[in-house]
Amino acid sequence: MWMNMLHFLLTLTFNIPASCHESSHHSPSSTSIHSTSTMPYTGRCNCTSVSITLPAQPERSVACHCINCKKAGGGSFSINYFIDQSDMTIEDPSQAMKIYSDPNTSSGNIIQRHFCSSCGSPLFTLSPKVPGKAYLKAALFDIVSKPESVFFGDKQEEWVSINLA
Ligand SMILES: [Zn+2]
Ligand SMILES: [Zn+2]
Repeated sequence: MWMNMLHFLLTLTFNIPASCHESSHHSPSSTSIHSTSTMPYTGRCNCTSVSITLPAQPERSVACHCINCKKAGGGSFSINYFIDQSDMTIEDPSQAMKIYSDPNTSSGNIIQRHFCSSCGSPLFTLSPKVPGKAYLKAALFDIVSKPESVFFGDKQEEWVSINLA
């Protein structure tokens, strides 16, 4: 029953191309999920309705300074893991996860911002530009890997400084 629901959800979600970063000059290398630890890595939204588990903690994250991430997260940048969608195991028993199709991108692509409709926490973003990939919000996790690169550095607040790994 639960698996059926999950499968339905994943199918529903991933048939629609979805994400957040539409930088034309920045093709991110996929963050490898290496096994510094083989422990599963689980993050949750604020209300814990939605949890997302990866096989292991990614080694590095990516910071995004785009305007849309700022608005969606209420901060000056977002920290993301650029991962394979298939690495995500999503648990959402109350079906709280909703999708905002965001057309306001520099590329014109419509990206799919997944969020928890109960508490508003951003979850992950999908983009048609990188099918099969997801930008997972690192803030869902208690321990966050250091960023190795930056998206939309031109939109970075002048008073923000990030020490890249
Ligand atoms: Zn929530
Ligand atoms: Zn962004």
